Amino acid sequence: MTSAYDIAIIGGGPVGSALALALHESKLKVCVLEARPANSASQDARALALSYGSRLLLNRLGVWDALHDVSPIRTIHISQKQSFGRAVLRAEELNVPELGYVLPYPALQGALTEELQHSNVVSIYGASVTQLSNSDDHAAINYQQDGAEHIIHARLAVVADGGKLLAQQYPPEVRDYGQSALITHITCSAPQSETAFERFTPQGPLALLPFKTGYELVWTASHQAAQNMLTWDDMKFLRELQQHFGDRVGEFLTVGKRTAFPLGLRRAPQQTPMPHTVLLGNAAQTLHPVAGQGFNMGLRDAWELAQVILDIAPESLGREEMLAKYCNQRRTDREAGIRFTDGLVRLFSNDLPLVSAGRAAALTALDCLPFAKKFVAKRMMFGSNG
Ligand SMILES: Cc1cc2nc3c(=O)[nH]c(=O)nc-3n(C[C@H](O)[C@H](O)[C@H](O)COP(=O)(O)OP(=O)(O)OC[C@H]3O[C@@H](n4cnc5c(N)ncnc54)[C@H](O)[C@@H]3O)c2cc1C
Repeated sequence: MTSAYDIAIIGGGPVGSALALALHESKLKVCVLEARPANSASQDARALALSYGSRLLLNRLGVWDALHDVSPIRTIHISQKQSFGRAVLRAEELNVPELGYVLPYPALQGALTEELQHSNVVSIYGASVTQLSNSDDHAAINYQQDGAEHIIHARLAVVADGGKLLAQQYPPEVRDYGQSALITHITCSAPQSETAFERFTPQGPLALLPFKTGYELVWTASHQAAQNMLTWDDMKFLRELQQHFGDRVGEFLTVGKRTAFPLGLRRAPQQTPMPHTVLLGNAAQTLHPVAGQGFNMGLRDAWELAQVILDIAPESLGREEMLAKYCNQRRTDREAGIRFTDGLVRLFSNDLPLVSAGRAAALTALDCLPFAKKFVAKRMMFGSNG
C-alpha cells in the first residue's frame, strides 16, 4: 500500500518528535514513522542535561510545562583531576534564571509523544523503516509494520533515526575515542543543590548532574574499564567513584542500575546526502556527551529546519534550493558544536604534564575572565547562533 505525505519523519525520538511538533500548525501533511510499538515508554536509561536555550524552544513547542521530572542547574563547576585549575559558571553572572536542566530521556520522550497525540501529525508506531530511495519529485520510504511491507512517498524525508538507516550507503566520518560512558543515579551525604560538576580526568570526563536529591552520573572510561565497572558490587563502585571524584559532595552512599554506552563522534559528511532528504539530530552528528550538547544541538536542527520549511514557497519543499538553505543555516552552529565537544575530549583526555598545566591555566583564566565565561556559557546554552 502506498500513501503520500508532504513530509515523512523517520524516527520519533526526541529530535524527530520536536520537528513534527514545530510543524504541526502548518497545512502540511506530516507523518512520523517510529519503530517503537504504540504506547510503549522508552526504556532508555540516560539522563539529559538540557540547556536554557532548549528550554525556550521546548516552551515554544508547548512541551516545557508538561515536563515534571526536571531538576534545574544554576551552577556548573568545572575541574581537572590532580590539578588546582577550576572554573565556576553561575546563572546569575550570566543573567539567566538557570543554566540548564536535568531530566530522564524517557520523560522528555513521553512529553513530546503525548503532545504529538493532540496534533494533526500522523504517528505510525511499530513502523521500522528498511529503505529510503528517491525519484525526481519525491522520496520513497519502505517500512515494515506487523510483518507487512508498506511504502510512503514524501516530498521531503527527514531521517531522525539516530544514524543507522543511511550509514552504509553514506558512511559517516567516525572518530572512536576508545571510551564508553557508564551512567547511573547516585546519592551522597552532602549534595550541592542545583550544582553540576564536570571533572576532566585522563580516562575521560566525569559528570555529576543534579537530579532530585542525588545526581545522574556520567563516568567516562575505556570500553574495558566501563565493562569492568558494570561487574563491581555497589560497595566497590562507590569506593572507586569516591577516589576518582573526591569529596566535593561528601560521601557517595547509594548507586542505582548501571548502563554503559560506547562513545564516539559520528558526523555525516552532508546533512542532505540525497535529493528530498535531510538528516537531523544524531543521524547528522552523534557527539560525545561531554558538556551535554547532543540533544541540544539536535533540537536546534529541528527548530531551524521547521523555520526553513515554513518560510519557503510550498512548491519548493524538498527541492535542492530548500535543502541548500537549511545546510547553510546550520553550518556554523553544527561545525562549532562538533569542534567544541571533540576538542574538549581530546584536550582533556590525557595526562601529559605540560598539557595538564596548560589546561589548569586555561580553567583559571576562564574563571577570572568574565567575557570568556560569557562566551563559553552562551555557546553551551544557545549554540553558536545564540
Ligand atoms: C550517555 C549519554 C549521555 C547523553 N547526555 C546528553 C545530555 O546531557 N544532553 C544532550 O543534549 N545530549 C545528551 N546525549 C545525546 C542525546 O541522547 C542524543 O543527542 C539524542 O538522543 C538524539 O536524539 P535523536 O532523536 O536524534 O536520536 P535517538 O534518541 O537515537 O532517537 C531515534 C529514534 O528513531 C527510532 N528509530 C531508529 N531506527 C528506526 C527505523 N529504522 N525506523 C523507524 N524508527 C527508527 C528509535 O526507536 C528512536 O525513537 C547523551 C548521549 C549519551 C549516549
